[in-house]
Amino acid sequence: MTYNPFDITKIRADFPILKREVNKKPLVYFDNAATSQTPQAVIDVIADYYSSYNANIHRGVHSLSQEATDAYEIARQKIQQHFNAQKAHEIILTSGTTHGINIIASGYAELLKANDELLVSAMEHHSNIVPWQMLCEKTGAVLKVIPMTQKGTLDMTAYASLLSDKTKLVFVNHVSNALGTVNPIASIIEQAHQVGAKVLIDGAQAAPHIKADVQALDVDYYVVSAHKLCGPTGVGMLYGKEDLLNTLPPYQGGGEMIAEVTFEKTTYADLPHKFEAGTPNIAGGIAFGAALDYMNGLGFESIATHENELLVYATTALKEIEGIQIYGEAAEKTAVVSFNVKGIHPYDVGSILDKFGIAVRTGHHCAQPIMDYYQIPGTIRASFSFYNTKEEIDRMIEALHRAIQMLQ
Ligand SMILES: *Cc1c(COP(=O)(O)O)cnc(C)c1O
Repeated sequence: MTYNPFDITKIRADFPILKREVNKKPLVYFDNAATSQTPQAVIDVIADYYSSYNANIHRGVHSLSQEATDAYEIARQKIQQHFNAQKAHEIILTSGTTHGINIIASGYAELLKANDELLVSAMEHHSNIVPWQMLCEKTGAVLKVIPMTQKGTLDMTAYASLLSDKTKLVFVNHVSNALGTVNPIASIIEQAHQVGAKVLIDGAQAAPHIKADVQALDVDYYVVSAHKLCGPTGVGMLYGKEDLLNTLPPYQGGGEMIAEVTFEKTTYADLPHKFEAGTPNIAGGIAFGAALDYMNGLGFESIATHENELLVYATTALKEIEGIQIYGEAAEKTAVVSFNVKGIHPYDVGSILDKFGIAVRTGHHCAQPIMDYYQIPGTIRASFSFYNTKEEIDRMIEALHRAIQMLQ
């Protein structure tokens, strides 16, 4: 590995929000798993779109529309390259992970029959559970759950025994947002393919930390949200293999997704437009490309090295505090620590941390089945990004001591 001077002071200066105070204390932002902060370079791209070439895309003959279309399609190519998709039209721009999953789940309503089996993992975000439950209600397909272990990993033996020729689809997150567990998706995909099942990977929580290669993984569908990787809210990617996307019906009807409309019959546009009805988040799509440029400029290896140091540092410091229980101790994790303090409700700890300017998430993190598994109401979750520092973790630990004193 080449030595890369990861200049944290310079990196932090790229994020205007990191200069602000909260409750008269410098902001410590440890809620990156919910949404990441936005660097000035990405904010500039959004401002530039609205100040110099705001126009609707793919339809205008005039110059502004062409400029906007070019910028939007260049962003699509950046996303394609980043995830190493074979073709640009396999990249569908969505409003986010949730939208991407719903496009696939609704498409399969016409392809499944009663008693087909779908496998979901026990550690999914609600957005990778509920659309499939709705699909099962419509089709009579059966949803089965790949169980998890105390350490917060998937039970791969159970997974192997759940797979059969009845299995049509498997959906698992690449990284758990509540625990930080990195799941062995290459093996999950390979085993599913052996029985002829297709796999959707929810990459929302992995994308800020791990550069996924969709061809190397041979994954069928991969979904992400831009707002978790330094991009804006309301935009994301659905990657799908071309032949699979071609067999799925469109999700929404409207402008942009048609080839020809008459009152007798409408024919649909080719990929990617078939799944992109209506005017999209144009500035958001362009900014998504800029966010990937920014992160690739830092380098995903450097990002992972720095974040892993933060994870080890925080985990060690937390374990020294009496009464702390950490949830999720997989060997391979991204920089997320979920924990509780014995006898204290997570919400109370979170509220006191906020008084010290420290933003953490408390609750079930949209992953209630995990909380049910551990029989807890929720956790305190500190999730780190490459722009966080050990000094900030020190401040959280200090504030935790104060919170425990106040609450116990
Ligand atoms: C955030 C997240 C989602 C939902 O993303 P949206 O941007 O709200 O659509 C889904 N799955 C995981 C693992 C997440 O972290």
